[in-house]
Amino acid sequence: MAGIYVHIPYCKSKCIYCDFYSTPQVETMEQYVHSLLAEAHLRSNEINGETFTTLYLGGGTPSVLPAELIARLVTGLHETFHLSNLEEFTIEVNPDDVTPALINSLQQLGINRVSMGVQSFNDNELQAINRRHTAQQAINAVHCINDAGIGNVSIDLIYGLPEQSLDSWQRNVEQAIELEVQHISAYCLSYEHGTRLWVMREQGRVQEASDELCIAMNDALMSMLSEAGFEHYEISNFAQPGYRSRHNSSYWNFTPYLGLGAAAHSYDGTTRRYNPASLKRYIEDISQGQTACEAEHLEPWERHDEEVMVRLRTSDGLDTSLIASHYGDQAATTLLRKAQPFINQGLLSQNGTTLTLTKQGIMTSDNIIRTLMWD
Ligand code: SF4
Repeated sequence: MAGIYVHIPYCKSKCIYCDFYSTPQVETMEQYVHSLLAEAHLRSNEINGETFTTLYLGGGTPSVLPAELIARLVTGLHETFHLSNLEEFTIEVNPDDVTPALINSLQQLGINRVSMGVQSFNDNELQAINRRHTAQQAINAVHCINDAGIGNVSIDLIYGLPEQSLDSWQRNVEQAIELEVQHISAYCLSYEHGTRLWVMREQGRVQEASDELCIAMNDALMSMLSEAGFEHYEISNFAQPGYRSRHNSSYWNFTPYLGLGAAAHSYDGTTRRYNPASLKRYIEDISQGQTACEAEHLEPWERHDEEVMVRLRTSDGLDTSLIASHYGDQAATTLLRKAQPFINQGLLSQNGTTLTLTKQGIMTSDNIIRTLMWD
């Protein structure tokens, strides 16, 4: 099993908290799709012998691409890879791009899951972070996707937004539940160095939500979604039964994936590859027949730390017998010794060889994960 991730780096405007690679240079879109297909061809044997079961068009904003370019891209990927076993084909969209015509053409391409960046259902909160859609547009977009019969919609929400109260956050979660989406990803707003939001905080123009408020918001989120039937299957991800994201789950299971496009990452089981986060360099390299990516071979301790961090964030937890088989018995013994105080405090639970974060543990997961890292 393996996945393909395709990065579409275009955004019409920049959200103030965002540190993803994106560009407004939409005049390069046609050339970019051409480069993506050339890269696909150059790297078609990289994940050799694996069956691709998930395909994910992410960004940036893939829905900024005109429908005919999305079609050209998907058709070209089918010509390069064996994609007849795809179980999940996701596209990320922004609410203001969603129209019945777009959804119809996406369906015809075999897209069976739509992930939408909503972030908030409150117009003041949306304006504060420079989102370019309104709450009503997001609601209409979910209805539009449902009316078309796609039936697998994920939305992203952010809590801890500037001036956001606990009450307002709860109304956001209520609205998401009311829309009957199948999947919700919810993140606490983070202040990343180099973003406009970071600068605004430095200048005192925006105040970061307190830890207490963020914990209360996360607590409300977990209770409300659990009551509404969602499974909390990863720290930031909630799904109705049967609707966990297969593509993202494969990242958390260390399944190989091929990442195409500027700033995309790939993983073949031992090596990570990083494409340049520059549209210009990416297009130039590909036009010269070079694959443009830098490879990083992960040392055992790096893989150990990634595995601890990623698996512990999931509800399936961290199986220490896997740690023993990947890194030796000593690594598993050390890990269990370090985990013991957290087990005693009720922050980790132990079931056989598997450790999982408890509800209280989720609130302090960063500290727990840091402590369990390789010595
Ligand atoms: S739409 Fe997404 S990728 Fe684009 S600027 Fe906003 S958060 Fe970043």
